[in-house]
Amino acid sequence: MQENEQGVASHPEIEEDSCKGCGRCVAACPRQCLEMKSTMNKMGIKPVGYKGAGCIGCAICFYNCPEPYAIKVVKA
Ligand code: SF4
Ligand code: SF4
Repeated sequence: MQENEQGVASHPEIEEDSCKGCGRCVAACPRQCLEMKSTMNKMGIKPVGYKGAGCIGCAICFYNCPEPYAIKVVKA
């Protein structure tokens, strides 16, 4: 797994309460490392979650998300 100078691997950061649960990022991720959660956010929506491994930092999820603050990507 590739890591940056701080020893952090590429990964998505999800602001669950901003996620509308549309699933666009899940469908777009080339590594299938995103999934919809079974628990609800404070708006009563099941948000996306990171499976915890497999992210390559491509940011395709970010570019496919219609919500400004729902998902961002930390690149290694
Ligand atoms: S950055 Fe790329 S690989 Fe990582 S979660 Fe987003 S779409 Fe998937
Ligand atoms: S992070 Fe964005 S694209 Fe992914 S499910 Fe939530 S609102 Fe949709």
